[in-house]
Amino acid sequence: MAWTCSALSNEALVSTLQRKGLVKSSSVANAMAAVDRRWFIPQQYTAAEAYQDCPLPIGFNVTISAPHMHAIMLEILAPFIVRSSEEPNATASKTSLRVLDVGSGSGFLTAVIAEMCHAEAGRRELDWKVVGLEHMRGLKEGAEAAIRQSPLAAHLESGRLQFVVGDGRNPGPSVPAPEEGFDVIHVGAAATEDSVPALTRLLRVDGCLVVPVGEQGSPQRLLVYTKEANGNVSWREDGLCTFVPLTSAAQQIGK
Ligand code: SAH
Repeated sequence: MAWTCSALSNEALVSTLQRKGLVKSSSVANAMAAVDRRWFIPQQYTAAEAYQDCPLPIGFNVTISAPHMHAIMLEILAPFIVRSSEEPNATASKTSLRVLDVGSGSGFLTAVIAEMCHAEAGRRELDWKVVGLEHMRGLKEGAEAAIRQSPLAAHLESGRLQFVVGDGRNPGPSVPAPEEGFDVIHVGAAATEDSVPALTRLLRVDGCLVVPVGEQGSPQRLLVYTKEANGNVSWREDGLCTFVPLTSAAQQIGK
């Protein structure tokens, strides 16, 4: 499906995403407004390109995802981070938030999630930490550099936002899971079905894993897994999407 949310500024992009119904909640809108997409893409892109609603190459044979895709992911994750004022939701009784962003790439989405956690921590007593996991050291360092130059630098300095190099197909060795598990695991690359158990294992009760599953080249299924109180994992499909594969570093750069 083609989306037409392109704009000429970050503010206009967020407004357009709202008008088209892709950004629904104020928590997602506010966090996307606080994190400028342009900070995270190579400098040669013009504003017209930076705020276009399409993926853009960021080096290492990968792209920053399109804004509408970021919005879709963030709206799925939001109830696991932001307490609802109307009804008890998955995050209502939590006093800590732990998030893992696998395949953090440009670092944009990781930063938006950190901003959502930070805003939520301003509303209630909450200890939060967001980790971006990326297998390309150059992208990890690029994401850190972008954030260091932005108003979000304090999140890096405090250690609440952290980027690590590792393999998202088996995150354990590079990202020790918090004792309680992760509230949210987002995967920004297409996994095969057999990589899913290594990720759901790291989920906290009432936690959520959102992951594109399928082969490259054909549309992948966007799957949302949640862990219930008894430890069972249930899942639903949330449409189709197209991501680069969760793969080895050598395969990605064609070696
Ligand atoms: N959300 C990111 C998506 C980037 S594309 C953004 O919008 O910028 C997917 C990312 O997954 C790429 O950065 C790629 O390098 C990374 N990736 C692919 N396979 C990986 C693996 N096995 N482990 C960790 N990261 C991986």
